[in-house]
Amino acid sequence: MSTQPDPSRGAAVKATDRAHVFHSWSAQALIDPLAVAGAEGSYFWDHDGNRYLDFSSQLVNTNIGHQHPKVVAAVREQAARLCTIAPGFAVDVRGEAARLIAERTPGDLDKVFFTNGGAEAVENAVRMARLHTGRTKVFSAYRSYHGATAAAINLTGDPRRWPSDTASAGVVHFWAPFLYRSPFHAETEEQECERALRHLEDVLVFEGPQTVAAIVLETVPGTAGIMVPPPGYLPGVRKLCDKYGVVLILDEVMAGFGRTGRWFAADHWDVVPDLLTFAKGVNSGYVPLGGVAISAEIAATFDRRPYPGGLTYSGHPLACAAAVATIGAMAEEGIVENAARIGEEVLGPGLRELAERHPSVGEVRGTGVFWALELVRDRATREPLVPYNASGEDNAPMAAFTAACRAAGLWPFVNMNRTHAVPPCTVTETEAKDGLALLDEALTVADAYT
Ligand code: PMP
Repeated sequence: MSTQPDPSRGAAVKATDRAHVFHSWSAQALIDPLAVAGAEGSYFWDHDGNRYLDFSSQLVNTNIGHQHPKVVAAVREQAARLCTIAPGFAVDVRGEAARLIAERTPGDLDKVFFTNGGAEAVENAVRMARLHTGRTKVFSAYRSYHGATAAAINLTGDPRRWPSDTASAGVVHFWAPFLYRSPFHAETEEQECERALRHLEDVLVFEGPQTVAAIVLETVPGTAGIMVPPPGYLPGVRKLCDKYGVVLILDEVMAGFGRTGRWFAADHWDVVPDLLTFAKGVNSGYVPLGGVAISAEIAATFDRRPYPGGLTYSGHPLACAAAVATIGAMAEEGIVENAARIGEEVLGPGLRELAERHPSVGEVRGTGVFWALELVRDRATREPLVPYNASGEDNAPMAAFTAACRAAGLWPFVNMNRTHAVPPCTVTETEAKDGLALLDEALTVADAYT
């Protein structure tokens, strides 16, 4: 079928969608989704002929860009060979995907349990940690997102948790470091790091470490604002976990597979978790896939004792074929290195330069192709451009900024008072510079509210 824009087809696509598709996170009567006709590389386009530079990577998952020919071909070939097979069988493509993942994850995370996405990965990591330790409590950070299923949404710290916070037995939230809005009133990164570690240890001690199964942390928190942790933080958390016999689960669903300019964000600090959750970038979302990479010690817990969890589509052949092709192409084409270089040479300096000229930009932070601009009304007071968790009229400045980006041909990832610059890891220098120019234009709209 053609991927050419066709307004009358677009109208029909939209009408059927509005009649029958129930959308995530949305008031159903208030949405007007774009009718997409096609996508390629760093762009997608709608049926009205508008083309967008995808500075969202959809939901920060198309790390390899849209319609990568090697991945499309691999899915097609696998479909012709074997579309589906239950998880209990050994098949080439599943083993190969697990091997390629295990090879790249840090330390001895050599076994892979496959899921259909990130939330299921978090659910299973928590189950493994609880069974491994015989303890129940699980710690997570307030500024976090871990998925929308039962345990994952309760671990999630941001307000998406609030309406579903009914089954949070055992979940304990704590503050992770974030110097710009320091929960510890710190003035330097070193201070923030030291106080954050002391706070975490205090909470552990007062909860009773013998009751705590795991600490779950996004290595670099994504949806909550791309807060790259101070250098000592994750090594410090690792030490606390070792001291108290707590499992360290690093959630790399968003940060993994090249996004930060390394295969995994944990590589920046040489931290090895006991469990690592992944999804999104593992195959760029071409077919749903996620999973948990498991340490030798935790895997051994289930050597003679059955693991009490499973999914019909665990290690689905089409998803695994897409993962094998994605990881292969990322290695062959230097895509992780590209993400690092674009971050260092283009996005980082370019975004900082925008911040100098636009009073609405309070802070720029990130690494690789994983950047956030914190938009403020007042740089001196750091008052956010919109109140925390704003909606409706309160959110008007961010809505106007988002509309300005889209009108300029840039599709941003916007959350609360932030816009994230998160293009595919394959983004070219020219595309990244084009994105910066479009952002420059749209930021004048945000400036008007300062
Ligand atoms: N963990 C993190 C860090 C995420 O960013 C997300 C999704 N944005 C999830 C878990 C949940 O993944 P999924 O939507 O695939 O269930």
